[in-house]
Amino acid sequence: MSTKENHWSRRRFLKATGTASIAALMAPAKKLATAAETPTRVPTRPFGQTGVDVSILSLGGMFNIASNQLMMKKALAWGVTYWDTADCYQRGSEKGIGKYFKKYPQDRQKVFLVSKTDARDPDGMTDLLNRSLDRMNTDYLDLYFVHGIYDIDELDDSTRAWAAKARAAGKIRFFGFSTHSNMEECLLGAAKLGWIDGIMMTYNYRLMHTTGMKRAVDACVKAGVGLTAMKTQGGGPVSTDSDTEIEMAGRFMQKGFTDAQAKLMAVWQNPDIASICSQMPNMSILMSNIAAAVNKTELSDRDTELLQRYARETQSDYCTGCTNICQSAVGENVPIGDVMRYLMYCNSYGDRHFAMAEFNKIPEKIRRRLANTDYSMAEQKCPQNMAIGRLMKEAIKELS
Ligand code: SF4
Repeated sequence: MSTKENHWSRRRFLKATGTASIAALMAPAKKLATAAETPTRVPTRPFGQTGVDVSILSLGGMFNIASNQLMMKKALAWGVTYWDTADCYQRGSEKGIGKYFKKYPQDRQKVFLVSKTDARDPDGMTDLLNRSLDRMNTDYLDLYFVHGIYDIDELDDSTRAWAAKARAAGKIRFFGFSTHSNMEECLLGAAKLGWIDGIMMTYNYRLMHTTGMKRAVDACVKAGVGLTAMKTQGGGPVSTDSDTEIEMAGRFMQKGFTDAQAKLMAVWQNPDIASICSQMPNMSILMSNIAAAVNKTELSDRDTELLQRYARETQSDYCTGCTNICQSAVGENVPIGDVMRYLMYCNSYGDRHFAMAEFNKIPEKIRRRLANTDYSMAEQKCPQNMAIGRLMKEAIKELS
């Protein structure tokens, strides 16, 4: 987003957005009047073989604060109709959505509403689903995910039976899972199951061009599984002051978008990805992401090449979630991938509060193990060459 746009105050933003489209907001002032007459909405794509089209931008990570009520209204008006939450999201995300639907019950049918369960056993899933429905003032979810699986074997026949029962009862329309660990293996496994409607997985400019990820996405597309990308910023900005970074920033600026917007556009350039789930805790980020979603500029081969070169140069700053590799190398139950993710929440997203809350959910016994483990074998095997031992120490110091 340009400096000028960054200087928009919330008051001016709200006043302007009463009538203008996002395209108009991103356009030079002299074009505002014309663009305002033809409001732009975020495009949609089919979500696998569900028969449902979802907005290519999904509103994630909403909190129960007053300004988000207004933001949900605006997001819907601009066509961001896919909303994502989870039973475990802190600071009342589901309750905030419930408050919104209580006030605007007519909007419920306009939203493709997704939540997630931390439970794996059928009784636990039933309890958490009922709690989510209750919190969100709705009697059904469009899509329900088992949250954060590491291995496709976490889903079994009892999960399939549970999902069929919940669908028959009208409590969920579609079923699937989210994953930030061993994504390729989880996607390949899901494609074989035949009863997974959708998956939300870590997917970004760093991961999308690898052979493994391409194969996994292809398998899901063939199996009719809808795909939502998350963590699309690839760990956020890593400042290297390298020629690549400077060239990339300058190039995108000249084209009229930021590197954060370019990273979203890189993912949308793959038509097999139905939507990007983005945490949008304020109007500025919502507005910037919508502007990227309605931007029809294609990234060129040169743009993609620059992003890939930047990814290579900063690879040791980004954990790709291949926890099967490092966690088997330490031979103990040490959640390296999770801790790497919490560090990312803290260092890249600036969400220290959430990172600490997540880190401190790790049982004390395992946190002690985290401090006393020898990571040298894991470091040798890590394809990203990450300094795992140093980073685990940093996490213990910063997040405990
Ligand atoms: S630390 Fe390395 S091996 Fe472990 S999950 Fe991250 S990238 Fe993979």
